Amino acid sequence: MAIDPQFEENREVVDEHEGHRVWGPVDEPETLGIHGTHVAVDFDICLADGACLEDCPVDVFEWVDTPGHPESERKADPANEANCIDCMLCVDVCPVDAIDVDGSRETRI
Ligand code: SF4
Repeated sequence: MAIDPQFEENREVVDEHEGHRVWGPVDEPETLGIHGTHVAVDFDICLADGACLEDCPVDVFEWVDTPGHPESERKADPANEANCIDCMLCVDVCPVDAIDVDGSRETRI
């Protein structure tokens, strides 16, 4: 299952983390929601492949530890989503389609 590109309509903001929004539902540690808005990563799909961290030309992503999550023990967090230049590399390389990028979506909280 890929990230829902309509998450802004289908989910609510339930938290903020490192300067970006977190879209619920969140029920830690098993359910972590979507992190980010301009660059959105569905933490419940992310399996810590790491291609996005390696390929992003402006270092948008940072690892965050998520012990106890059924898919992976760490996630690619869009900690620097404001730096995104919309190259779409991360969307293309993610093996599980956990990332959605849309420059028309507001970055700030
Ligand atoms: S679209 Fe490009 S610049 Fe933006 S987060 Fe993905 S890889 Fe980085």
